[in-house]
Amino acid sequence: ERQAALAASSGPGRTSDGFMVPLLANVGGPADLPAALEHGAEGVGLFRTEFLFLDDSAKAPSEDKQVQAYRKVLEAFPDGRVVVRVLDAGADKPLDFLTPADEPNPALGVRGLRSLLEHPEVLRSQLRALARAAEGLSTRLEVMAPMVADREDARAFAEACREARLDAKYGAMVEIPSAALRAGSLLREVEFLSLGTNDLAQYAFAADRQVGSLARLQDPWQPALLDLIASAAEAATAAGKSCGVCGEAASDPLLACVLTGLGVTSLSMGAAAIPYVRSALAQASLVQCRQAAEAARAADSAAEARTAARQVLSGG
Ligand code: PEP
Ligand code: MG
Repeated sequence: ERQAALAASSGPGRTSDGFMVPLLANVGGPADLPAALEHGAEGVGLFRTEFLFLDDSAKAPSEDKQVQAYRKVLEAFPDGRVVVRVLDAGADKPLDFLTPADEPNPALGVRGLRSLLEHPEVLRSQLRALARAAEGLSTRLEVMAPMVADREDARAFAEACREARLDAKYGAMVEIPSAALRAGSLLREVEFLSLGTNDLAQYAFAADRQVGSLARLQDPWQPALLDLIASAAEAATAAGKSCGVCGEAASDPLLACVLTGLGVTSLSMGAAAIPYVRSALAQASLVQCRQAAEAARAADSAAEARTAARQVLSGG
């Protein structure tokens, strides 16, 4: 039966009662496009641009090289949207031309937007390359900054986007607890939010995402993480703006329903997960998703949250 549901699964993401939840792909470059298209992604929710440059990270990438890669990804979704994340260098993704070599705690150091604000010419060049890549295309381009901590960060990124005269919505990733707690304040500067649940879990639980033995604290079902997600989603709803999820949490079909119930407006994931998430959403109503979210948040552990949500979603 499950196989049949998957085989029948195509088209846009929606709950059983027709509430639309766009299902988008996470990509690291043009090489990931065939899988995204094959699994029916409605667009790209996270383009990790730093992956294009990890092979030759001694120097900043040339603008022309960037334009080529960005254009290929944009061209793949003429009717959709592509959310490009500006370079997220540092910690688990060091780039020599941006990342300080001698930080005692790279995950808490100059990474993500912080490095770009220290090297504004790199950010300007990337935004210029994006503007060139999008010229004449119908794809809706959106850009977002990683590791936004507060309103001042959000404002600095928004100003850079406006100065670049980029014809694109600009947003902030929410992957630091301070940003989730004060999401409404970020939304006074930017046009949308996208939750990076991998880093959000890492920083909320003080548990290095690269240390396998701490997996329990990286579990996206942790009720404290769900609370932070709810805080951001509620602020976005109040502001009339969108708030997606682009971390691993979005690829768990059951959790995808819970995220929808928390008020998240789109889900971006590794392409292979899209059919499973589409199928799970199609079997749950929006009210059930909300009830599952409430039940999960009332739990005291990740395991209990998962069980509580499963009970609600299988109950009718
Ligand atoms: C995240 O932190 O959840 C995220 C989507 O970004 P990355 O995994 O690339 O850090
Ligand atoms: Mg991240």
